[in-house]
Amino acid sequence: MNSRQLFLQNLAQTTDFPLLIEIEKAEGIYMYGPDGKRYMDLISGIGVSNIGHRHPKVIEATKDQLDKYMHLMVYGEYVQTPQSQLAKALCDTLPEPLDNVYLVNSGSEAIEGALKLAKRYTGKPKIMSCINAYHGSSQGALSVGGNEIFKRAYRPLLPGVEHIVYGGFADLEKIDRQTAAVVIETVQGEAGVKVACTNYFQALRRKCDETGTLLICDEIQAGFGRTGKFWAFEHFGIVPDILCCAKGMGGGMPIGAFISRKDVMQAFANNPILGHITTFGGHPVSCAASLATIQVLQEENLIAQVERKANLFKQLLIHPKIKRIRNQGLMMAVEFESFDVLKPIIDRAISWGVITDWFLFCDDAMRIAPPLIITESQIREACEIILRAIEEPLNPS
Ligand code: PMP
Repeated sequence: MNSRQLFLQNLAQTTDFPLLIEIEKAEGIYMYGPDGKRYMDLISGIGVSNIGHRHPKVIEATKDQLDKYMHLMVYGEYVQTPQSQLAKALCDTLPEPLDNVYLVNSGSEAIEGALKLAKRYTGKPKIMSCINAYHGSSQGALSVGGNEIFKRAYRPLLPGVEHIVYGGFADLEKIDRQTAAVVIETVQGEAGVKVACTNYFQALRRKCDETGTLLICDEIQAGFGRTGKFWAFEHFGIVPDILCCAKGMGGGMPIGAFISRKDVMQAFANNPILGHITTFGGHPVSCAASLATIQVLQEENLIAQVERKANLFKQLLIHPKIKRIRNQGLMMAVEFESFDVLKPIIDRAISWGVITDWFLFCDDAMRIAPPLIITESQIREACEIILRAIEEPLNPS
């Protein structure tokens, strides 16, 4: 059996219509099929390959660490230099008082840890999250997700979760002294790139302070330079109490984190001890890759180029069929009339070697979130193909 047949036979499927693109090698913004066909990855493996596929510095750091050790011991017992150095490098990107890092394996796990920490630290029962939020697929993360279609079949979920409108000032009144945490995507991703205004984030921050509620920012998709700042909350003049990250953090290796202040994080160490534990969280090889990723983002000055590159996309993607483009940096949603209009465009672009996608909760917009290393000429090439894919269904020949 070939790989495609084995994929369909033995791998669990999550839809009846997988993309079925087979990739043999990836480098920079490109992926290559076994037949040598080249694909431009305009979605970064869903927000992961911010510094491109197989960045040489990440490969080098990974190989160096492989030569030293892989897994040694569950999280938090042995002193492992890659973990300590990564934690320090993360804290150096952050304002005070965010100075303490808990390393995990994925975005969902970062959310799980953050929710537990907020409940444990505050002793309060309620969690607020936003309508149309996506925070992951595990039970806690799904509970604070804001899309009923994806939740309904899995109830009962976590009790004590209430939803507010993202960006809605009136709903801030629902945050009260019983609320342990508000968890919010700084930029809503799967809702189709929705960005609340600075005044909203500042009012949210004030409300959390007034009620003794921890503010958890989910930057699993928006962090690591994607929006044109290292962290998306920097756009809004706020600092969260707990910050969640993953995806772009590992430069292609699996890793996530939730980050807070030391005195908050300390709640996991007592009554009972081992308040949150993980075997593989902070895997040394992933930590080495993540540290290299931070260095690449900084040394190659990639974040400062994000806005200019995003503007180029916006200048080039002008067409009567494109209704609007929502973006925060290179996290972009190109809106069309409907799913039916967009579907053949995405399919055609893929067949011509440009990979874009939809959003989980927004099927009339094209997801564009390329590696931040994309060049101006690559952006021009990608947009030319997308525009041709828009035109072609009108003039099939
Ligand atoms: N939060 C956000 C904002 C995300 O975009 C995602 C992944 N799409 C997650 C959480 C969950 O991350 P993971 O798939 O690594 O569990």
